[in-house]
Amino acid sequence: MSDERTEFDFTQRSAEEQASLLQHTWCDNCQQADLGMTDPQEYEQFGLRFVEGRCKACGEAVFTELSDDEF
Ligand SMILES: [Zn+2]
Repeated sequence: MSDERTEFDFTQRSAEEQASLLQHTWCDNCQQADLGMTDPQEYEQFGLRFVEGRCKACGEAVFTELSDDEF
């Protein structure tokens, strides 16, 4: 398994998927779900696919791990 980070183009996803992924977040800093994120970056690392962005509420980094059926 590689720990190299492979970037993907988040904007290649459908508008519905993008909207859903940007809305359904968990922020460790706020300890609250679905605050939303900005500046999404999609990448694959450790064999898992993530979308990373910034919490709309506090500006801290938030990550969403995508399950197999989402990519
Ligand atoms: Zn937050």
